[in-house]
Amino acid sequence: MISHLLTSHTQKIETSLVRELLHYSQQPDVLSLAGGLPDEKYMPAYPSLDVLADSRQYGPSEGEIRLREQVVSIVADRGLSTVADDVLITTGSQQGLDIISRLILDGDSTILTEQPTYLAACQVFSLQGATIHDVASDAQGMSLEALRQAIDAHHPKALYLIPNFQNPAGHCYSLQRRREIAALLDEKGILLIEDDPYRDLCYEQVDLTPICSLLKTAPWLYLGSFSKVLWPGVRTGYSVSCPAFSPYLVKVKQAIDLHTNRLGQEMVSYFLSSGGFPAHLVTLKEVYKHKRDVMAQALSSELGDLVTFALPAGGMFFWLRLPDGVSSTLVLEEALRENVLVLPGVPFFPSESPLKDSFLRLSFARVSLDDINKAVAVLAGVIKRLLTK
Ligand code: PMP
Repeated sequence: MISHLLTSHTQKIETSLVRELLHYSQQPDVLSLAGGLPDEKYMPAYPSLDVLADSRQYGPSEGEIRLREQVVSIVADRGLSTVADDVLITTGSQQGLDIISRLILDGDSTILTEQPTYLAACQVFSLQGATIHDVASDAQGMSLEALRQAIDAHHPKALYLIPNFQNPAGHCYSLQRRREIAALLDEKGILLIEDDPYRDLCYEQVDLTPICSLLKTAPWLYLGSFSKVLWPGVRTGYSVSCPAFSPYLVKVKQAIDLHTNRLGQEMVSYFLSSGGFPAHLVTLKEVYKHKRDVMAQALSSELGDLVTFALPAGGMFFWLRLPDGVSSTLVLEEALRENVLVLPGVPFFPSESPLKDSFLRLSFARVSLDDINKAVAVLAGVIKRLLTK
């Protein structure tokens, strides 16, 4: 028995359903629509060690300077102007969430998120003991009126948003909503944590202006990742912050792990400098867009009006609203009996909601076209059976 050793926050920490289900998706006979995993068929080969700079020694906590400068130019293309001093290389963008949480959140703090939102962000916020309040969204993004009310009611320290091809709901904010949210945060002086790992997987003409770039006075932190477009196993991401935050972020990073794995940073940096990155993104977008369309077609033809979903303009996920009375948790159990793995929406809701058990998040990125059709057919059979029960 070690429970008396745990802090009050770690006693309450829940495991991530996504990570728990991951072991099923590794079984060869299981078709998985559950994880947010990229397709390894389209991951570039690792560069050979001979072409990489020597990375055997300890390195700087901020990250390799060449990679930080590359990040400066990547985010400049997105409309976010920064300098290498305000870029921190992190062990995936997940670590960026951890670092900012350790810096600003404790048991007295409140943070606002979208409803639904990325469940592993909630895990990190909860680990610091923070209170999470989720705010309703419409098709344009987080509802401005609901956000204003939540700010006035809860006096949050920060707002956590995934404005582009959100995980799990897939939505993308309109430019107008981005501007309105930025203006409200400036007015209230609230920190924006903008998490943007999916933006390069963009299949339609949509506005992707970073909300951070629209802020005039409010503090901000922007998180990016190479996981969805290169190699998630290499665990390389970054944060870009308003200058006032940068020295604090580095101190927390030093305390956590000294610095991110240098070999991984070298691999990413080498690939970016090789000139092949733009063409690689074109291929990824073509492949994933096609998979998205095949899944949309399969869902429509197998389930018709029984379910509702919006076509995601980018990213990896469909957010499927189940027919009334059909539980997402039961769908998971029944589909797994037929070797199809889906992810119930339940853990993506930080607070109680009557709709909690009414959604599935379906990822189309890693499955083959054939398997998309097979998996959706099984899923449709399960949903129809549950409806008649
Ligand atoms: N934020 C969001 C919204 C995500 O979906 C993920 C990965 N699923 C992450 C952050 C973490 O990504 P990574 O640590 O691999 O960069």
